[in-house]
Amino acid sequence: MSKSEENKYYISSLFDFIDDAFRSGNNEIAEKIQSFIAQGKIKGREFNDEIFPMKGPTSNIDTGFIILQAGFLSYLWTVCYFMIGLIEIYQDKAGIDQPVVSLIDSEKFELLNHTFAWGKSLKPSIDAEFVPWPDHIANPMQKEIRVKQANQLLVLSASYLMYHELGHLVLHADAAEFIKTVKSPFYTLREGDSRRLRNMEIQADVFALDCMFGFPTEEHNRYMKFFAAIVTQLAEFFLRGMPDTRSKNYPDLDERLKRVLDRIDISDPGLKMNIDLVCSIGLQLFLTLTFAEFIPPDPDKFSFEDFDELKAYLFKIIDAWKEKYNA
Ligand SMILES: [Zn+2]
Repeated sequence: MSKSEENKYYISSLFDFIDDAFRSGNNEIAEKIQSFIAQGKIKGREFNDEIFPMKGPTSNIDTGFIILQAGFLSYLWTVCYFMIGLIEIYQDKAGIDQPVVSLIDSEKFELLNHTFAWGKSLKPSIDAEFVPWPDHIANPMQKEIRVKQANQLLVLSASYLMYHELGHLVLHADAAEFIKTVKSPFYTLREGDSRRLRNMEIQADVFALDCMFGFPTEEHNRYMKFFAAIVTQLAEFFLRGMPDTRSKNYPDLDERLKRVLDRIDISDPGLKMNIDLVCSIGLQLFLTLTFAEFIPPDPDKFSFEDFDELKAYLFKIIDAWKEKYNA
């Protein structure tokens, strides 16, 4: 294998850990998955080693396979890495008394940003060509603490996506024909199709959340899982070119994120704050990337009692954009 060929597969160093997290996230899940395998509802998992253009996870109801692509997982890894780094910077600056904390003037930002930008470059587009994982950015084989944390987060994030796909395999076996029909190239969606597809996605989301959080788990582990679920949802936001969270056949991105937020039951105040931080930094990053104004002209007005107030403010801005796009 040439150097660049090898680089392509940095992410494959995590495949075994992903399998393991999926199969044995906790005892109850391990049993559940064993029984799905016994019933033939799930046959296995396939890692597609293509890296460009990235393609999200899928499941094949006919074969019972869940398919994860190296390209998408690589992108997701860069998002995990980026979010962990941003929190680090935020914590470096904690205590600085100013209404708007800028994260980009930290010396740590450049590496974070280059890594994330490469991840985003795996997005399908006609003018881009595939660039193997460059040496000057972070990757999962490095030894730094931030890399290790990103690896841990990516593994949980991938298992969350697999539970979503498992949800389709378990719940939607009887919809195989419908799915094939609507996915065929020349099919025009009929009235009700989108709603049905959306409902199936909501069911799979709820199934995934039940697999992740439906059973008691140790607090720090549970915190990491919430962190991972939020980052997984945010990763979809960051692929958008406009501040538009609507989706045709899927629930809107903000709805899916809120569904995760509604499940959060972390009691440790420090961990709870980190979760809130991830969410609000993520939403602000989305608005920044899509050039949506969200800081009022007078930044003194950009101050909030707590994270709930800030989150509510950001979701309100997202709602306003949805209204604009709907109009
Ligand atoms: Zn789905």
